[in-house]
Amino acid sequence: MKSNASSGYEERLNDDDRGKPVKNFSWVLAGLLLFCAIALFPSCQRASGIWHGEQKLIILGIDGMDPQLLRQFMAEGKMPNFSQLASQGSFRLLTTSIPPQSPVAWSNLITGMDAGGHGIFDFIHRDPKTMEPFFSASQVKPPKHAIHLGNWLIPLGSGSAEQLRKGTAFWEILDQHGVPNSVFRIPANFPPVPAQGETLSGMGTPDLRGTYGTFSFYTDDPSSAAGAVEGGQIIPVQVENSEVKANLIGPDNTFRKGSPVATEPFSVAIDPLEPVARIAVQDQRFVLREGEWSDWKRIEFQLIPFFGNVKGMCRFYLKQAHPRFQLYVSPINIDPADPALPISTPASYSRLLSEEAGEFYTQGIAEDTKALSAGVLDDNEYLQQARTVLAEHRRIFDMEFPKFHQGVFFFYFSSLDLNSHMFWRLMDANHPGYNAGLAAQNGLAIQEFYQQIDLVLGEVLPKLDAQTTLLVLSDHGFAPYYRSFNLNTWLLNNGYIRLKKGGIADSNEPWANVDWSQTRAYGLGLNGLYVNLGGRESNGIVEPGAASDALIKELKEKLLTVKDPQAGLSVITRVDVAREVYRGPYSNSGPDLLVGYNRGYRAGWKTILGGFPPEVLEDNLNPWSGDHCMDYTLVPGVLLSNRTVQADTPALTDIAPTILAEFGIAKSKDMIGQSVFQPKGSAP
Ligand SMILES: [Zn+2]
Repeated sequence: MKSNASSGYEERLNDDDRGKPVKNFSWVLAGLLLFCAIALFPSCQRASGIWHGEQKLIILGIDGMDPQLLRQFMAEGKMPNFSQLASQGSFRLLTTSIPPQSPVAWSNLITGMDAGGHGIFDFIHRDPKTMEPFFSASQVKPPKHAIHLGNWLIPLGSGSAEQLRKGTAFWEILDQHGVPNSVFRIPANFPPVPAQGETLSGMGTPDLRGTYGTFSFYTDDPSSAAGAVEGGQIIPVQVENSEVKANLIGPDNTFRKGSPVATEPFSVAIDPLEPVARIAVQDQRFVLREGEWSDWKRIEFQLIPFFGNVKGMCRFYLKQAHPRFQLYVSPINIDPADPALPISTPASYSRLLSEEAGEFYTQGIAEDTKALSAGVLDDNEYLQQARTVLAEHRRIFDMEFPKFHQGVFFFYFSSLDLNSHMFWRLMDANHPGYNAGLAAQNGLAIQEFYQQIDLVLGEVLPKLDAQTTLLVLSDHGFAPYYRSFNLNTWLLNNGYIRLKKGGIADSNEPWANVDWSQTRAYGLGLNGLYVNLGGRESNGIVEPGAASDALIKELKEKLLTVKDPQAGLSVITRVDVAREVYRGPYSNSGPDLLVGYNRGYRAGWKTILGGFPPEVLEDNLNPWSGDHCMDYTLVPGVLLSNRTVQADTPALTDIAPTILAEFGIAKSKDMIGQSVFQPKGSAP
């Protein structure tokens, strides 16, 4: 996948010079000084609300909380606070989005619209002109023009981070009505939309390299293949005289010709006898024992000598000192104390937060699931990292929740989602990745995280009063992911995709050898199936109208008959036609069909990016073993409240209207649902 974000850091240099040419270094310097001035005197634009009501609304957004698991843990007495809330208030299933993927689902919640309205259809979209995949929620663009000066490339104007979600967020409407609000780490809000209150961006926020997170693993072990792995990089090093010299890898330096990657050197002195090493990076020196994590270390990457630099931070983990050297370095995160890209409103808020609550992961998906999948971290090591992520979130929560006195407080927790993805295989003996030994160690990991969330709820319940409404909700539920369905391989085998003469199906390179002039449909993303449509795709061959409609009908019917010969089960239980289920102006820009997999099945790892593994169906042996990118009716989320939920089948699209109704604000005409506290069909 293309790294969608080479730069944008120069934005910091000329944030207020947008569009004006930067002619020389003094301009850059002036811009930098101006930026510093703004950063030092941040607070000016907090508007004072006009709203003086008593009503309060607390929303805990728990990504991936599954109703079946929640019921089980409540029945076992593991979640007393949820049990109390469910018995005294309401507990309903919450209809998720089509497809049930977090960026889509949270966008439904944020805007009250479906994907046709907010334009987020999947984690991954494609450019129909180039067929190149890209991340759907945000884009970081380098400046369009630059001037060459020797080996330097001086940007004209600034790069930018662009939020790709469309539609108005519920807190923008609250702002218009003067209702105070704060929104922490909600997905699909990077860069954060302008807001009166405090917001912190969440899922969709890149690391400093502009990716969703790229770890580095330094080792002298020749059995670790050097090079890129998904979500990381294995970097071979040599131990000489008990010392390792290597480079931290930063963002692309768009100030230099060819945008080479910016690096900063560090060294590691390994104790020849003890399993201990001392790391020196910039002006920092610290000692790690084997199996120990560092706290956050600030790193400055120099892009232009003296005044063009960008700050990030990372954590080091000494996996092994002897006999092999193994050092994990986390993705370089945007430093909240000095963010290279906007991650909060007001802009100064992330710095104040880091001063009060300590440093924290700013990258959207902080749990390093990729390092576990790549075998760089083992279950225990990943679990330590994932616990740190939750501990940081709880620290921020503990800091902010007591300050909440009026309006809306939204707080997002990622832990149940990511850890259900990674540890399903250890609580389900039917999973092909199940291992009794590992299960004995960490089979209760998912339960542990559920119990942590119960403790958070335990902090909230005593604060509820007659004026306060609580919503605890999830964007979708969860299911096992036993087997992969390689949609593109199936399309190839069934003649919908054709390869060039003599070309072979390649599982690794997107669309390798595809003959678009003879291809009628293709799969991209976790649930998306597209017609190769004339006038839309650059080499589209299917005529819009009757031909396209007939193809859509044929694909839907055929996919619903696919059986897994191994288990005898239907692989696909539902296929939605986009134009039948979406409303809104973007309905035609996403997939034409949404493939809904049966519980236990999901699109395979390589098919989602346009690859063709040899088999249509295969076991999923990746530690990523639970999932929800399935038939949306099989993985509903949860909705709990201290008040009586009147709606029998509330949906994510009802939440924005619910929030507004709590403050007497009418929903906007684009919003699909209605307040869950009103009986269905009653006037909004
Ligand atoms: Zn998930």
